[in-house]
Amino acid sequence: MAKKIGFIGLGIMGFPMAKHLLEAGHPLVVHDLNRKPVKELVQAGAGEAASPQEIAEKSEIVITMLPDSPDVHDVALGADGLSEGIREGCIYADMSTIAPSVAVEVADYLGAKGVRCLDAPVSGGDVGAKNATLSIMVGGDKATFDEMLPVFEVMGKTITLCGPNGAGQIVKACNQIQVALNILGMSEALLLGTKAGVDPAIIHEVLSGGYAQSRVSDVRGPRVIKGDFAPGFKGKFHFKDLNIIMKSGNDYGVPLPVTSLVHELFASMLAAGRGDLDHTGVITVLEDLARVEARTKP
Ligand code: NAD
Repeated sequence: MAKKIGFIGLGIMGFPMAKHLLEAGHPLVVHDLNRKPVKELVQAGAGEAASPQEIAEKSEIVITMLPDSPDVHDVALGADGLSEGIREGCIYADMSTIAPSVAVEVADYLGAKGVRCLDAPVSGGDVGAKNATLSIMVGGDKATFDEMLPVFEVMGKTITLCGPNGAGQIVKACNQIQVALNILGMSEALLLGTKAGVDPAIIHEVLSGGYAQSRVSDVRGPRVIKGDFAPGFKGKFHFKDLNIIMKSGNDYGVPLPVTSLVHELFASMLAAGRGDLDHTGVITVLEDLARVEARTKP
């Protein structure tokens, strides 16, 4: 019998992930501060709960997909939160990207009540969420991971146990370093070539066929050169992740000189009021400096 799942946070990522679980036959109960995605899932057959506490009371497995560390902390441990309704033996998987230290704090608190916690952040973006091809990096114990695997498989393809609680978030931080640096590398390449007079579509095509090829460039390059910065993954969220990364670098004594420059470029993107653009919109900060836009002619 499919396990009862409670899902909190039905945004760009959470909505399609929750929908896959419903379509896979899991009894689903949902909660979000925004009514629109709740209504749509209720129409598709989900139940609705008024608070995280009620979600916890009605579920054997709880999943959250929320913006940031304070949101997860509040939903898990705050008033009317999961901790007030969740029962011993239940599984709680937080799939948001948050600070590893908060993931460990929540796991320790709920773990003391007999709740089995996993941090399970994802990579693959809105496209991966819609196509159920997410990469899911998990921190927690092996028995809980094994039990959750069939549920994760409904939403993702590459699912890896990375270590104890917090390890999933650490690997996600590593992922976000590499993605951010790829975006800025692609951006500078496109801007140099464009200002020198080459069509950025040609640059993209050539670089995609050689050693410079990257997933970032494959998936987002064609949109960037058309000036399409609809999210996707919002710049303000990548900045949030870079803050987590810089703090983690500090905590573990790892200098991150290149990432720190990228962090400042994302800070500039937010200061310019562009934080709701897709994270590839950070190219606009470099475009301002170079006084050229990397756009192909229609
Ligand atoms: P989003 O802003 O689209 O969705 C967040 C949802 O959470 C919203 O529907 C919001 O109403 C809801 N919410 C916020 N606080 C709440 C609360 N206290 N109670 C109930 N609902 C609440 O964000 P998203 O793009 O879906 O990202 C979610 C998480 O996934 C973030 O941590 C992000 O870093 C991570 N992530 C996003 C992507 C991406 O491409 N969008 C990719 C990988 C990871």
